[in-house]
Amino acid sequence: MMSVSANIENIRQAIPSGIELIAVSKTMSEEVIMEAYNAGQRKFGENKVQELVSKQLNLPSDIQWHFIGHLQTNKVKYIVPFVYMIQSVDSYKLLKEIDKQAAKAKRSIQCLLQFHIAEEETKYGFDLEEAKQMFQTLKNEPLHHIKICGVMGMATFTDDEKQLRKEFKSLKTIFENIKKDHLSEITYFKEISMGMSGDYILAIEEGATLIRVGSNIFGNRLYNPK
Ligand SMILES: *Cc1c(COP(=O)(O)O)cnc(C)c1O
Repeated sequence: MMSVSANIENIRQAIPSGIELIAVSKTMSEEVIMEAYNAGQRKFGENKVQELVSKQLNLPSDIQWHFIGHLQTNKVKYIVPFVYMIQSVDSYKLLKEIDKQAAKAKRSIQCLLQFHIAEEETKYGFDLEEAKQMFQTLKNEPLHHIKICGVMGMATFTDDEKQLRKEFKSLKTIFENIKKDHLSEITYFKEISMGMSGDYILAIEEGATLIRVGSNIFGNRLYNPK
């Protein structure tokens, strides 16, 4: 296994400039996260509230924390005071709660809408119809403490390149559709978060702006907490 810093360097060299690398550090120790930090990495992704809160307390304050897991509404308040972006907004109810807590914390939270693009049934997310209904509601009842900055999706766990491209393309199409019909004036609606260790090169070819890479940086996790 190469070192964390060498792995980060390799990925940086493989991706075009302008693509942001989120280092997915779930289950990894603070020491290991610091290896990535010392290699210049500042954007990290976590998928469990408690784990994120305790890491955030102990690690440097200039880290940008991205929440990427399923978020229960009753836990939003714990991460809103410091989180940089919530990538996994999968319901209107959750978005409203983020807005409410952000108002209390006097913050504005960057959010991505998570879409269901995989074949697997279990993955969370909107479908386009639901999202369109939500934008209709938001037109009449705007939320002032969230910014919808783009979309996020998780492809099927497969090495079938055709399938992966199809799913990434579908997220890109969803992004363009929302942009055109609902957010054409919103310049910060520009992010497409897709691609993980096994498929980030394909994801970039299909239009990703943020990639979320864990095991290619940190090695295999002892368990898979998805
Ligand atoms: C774990 C996880 C990743 C990273 O997965 P790797 O295959 O280890 O790169 C990316 N996105 C989400 C939402 C995850 O939960």
